[in-house]
Amino acid sequence: MIQRIYSTGESSLNEVIRALSSEASNCINCGFCEAVCPTIPAFDYKTSMGARGRINLAKEFLSGNHSLNFRDPFESCLDCYACFQVCPAHVNSGVVSELMKQAIAEGQIENQKHQVAEMITKIVFKYKDPLGLKKELTEWSKGLEFENSYETILYTGHMHQLMAYNKKLSEMLKSIGELYRFLAPLLSSLGNPSFIFSKFYDKKIKERSESQLKNIYFLLKKAGVKFSYLGVEEPYPGTLMIDMGYVNEFKQYAQWVTDLFHKKGVKNIITVDPHTYDVLLNKYTKYVKGFDFNVTFYLDHLSTLKFSRLDKIVTYHEPCHLVRHTDHNVPKGFIESITNLILPIHNGKNTYCCGGPIEAFYPKASEKISDKRFKELKQTKAEIIITSCPICFVNLYKDESVMDISELLANLVT
Ligand code: SF4
Ligand code: SF4
Repeated sequence: MIQRIYSTGESSLNEVIRALSSEASNCINCGFCEAVCPTIPAFDYKTSMGARGRINLAKEFLSGNHSLNFRDPFESCLDCYACFQVCPAHVNSGVVSELMKQAIAEGQIENQKHQVAEMITKIVFKYKDPLGLKKELTEWSKGLEFENSYETILYTGHMHQLMAYNKKLSEMLKSIGELYRFLAPLLSSLGNPSFIFSKFYDKKIKERSESQLKNIYFLLKKAGVKFSYLGVEEPYPGTLMIDMGYVNEFKQYAQWVTDLFHKKGVKNIITVDPHTYDVLLNKYTKYVKGFDFNVTFYLDHLSTLKFSRLDKIVTYHEPCHLVRHTDHNVPKGFIESITNLILPIHNGKNTYCCGGPIEAFYPKASEKISDKRFKELKQTKAEIIITSCPICFVNLYKDESVMDISELLANLVT
């Protein structure tokens, strides 16, 4: 697990300032981080939209200058931690962005709150999901059988299911531009926004994401794992809240999720995407009382399965949240053992973000980042591109060579 220098659970302005100044003051302004920060080229080399620029902006904030545009530079940070890998002073511009997002979310900088972030936080509190969806999220499990006991649960964290809706939402945001500022508060004030959101989804992505979840179910069953699923009662983990800086709201919400798991008798949580895995491992354990569950990633349970070998060149896009936030390396081992694996130029700890984390707020920049990464993956001449994250999958799904690892494994399991 990556060593986090400062927690982002600071609950008062003074604590945020203390953590920010300790982190930012170590910066020696060398610029190494700019060479690896994906947002710099995506925003046409505007320095404030890159790792070093973010540190310098945080220093401006600390010096009392609150009149600059802080929202775009910090909200556009991918939280990918590529900068931290190369910094000789061990500064993490991603953590600086997290702290600045918290200052913005807490209203410490006037008029810079993101309306969509506000809307999502309110909806999560009310409906336990960012879009207020319920039955749509369980459609993947229709006809599947689960154990009666909730001792071990497969926890989707809604991530795969939300991808189809997120895709449409970001297309809409791209076309309406700044109009979202007026629409977001309106949507969050509606009695039940799910009525609107449930109508907007990408059919192809929905089918593909649901089939990936079914593959995961099938692989776990074949491996002899006994598990249940909370179905319509499954809560969203609150990942977007913490990602957008709503730390205090996240703490409250995550405590509610934890209490629900306890009430249901949960002991073991099998996650199926890197973001949920990361948030449970690194945020719940830090900010929530009594989070004593055994959290695993589904691939950890498949070591007894046998797979036939695929004699094709395959490349693997390593998700930032697996290799840098949690140090989880199982997917690469699996792919390596059953295919002819050729890794792209940016791999391992130096992987390159897919752009997904900013797709909803900065869709054009997100697309530039994913195009760049897709090109790198294609340069390996691989016939198949694999990833192990639903966000990466959707962002890199630019032709039919792109697959989720669950699809590859389900095809090859014997
Ligand atoms: S690499 Fe580290 S020390 Fe150099 S500019 Fe970036 S944050 Fe500062
Ligand atoms: S976390 Fe990623 S996007 Fe953010 S400053 Fe670092 S390299 Fe850039």
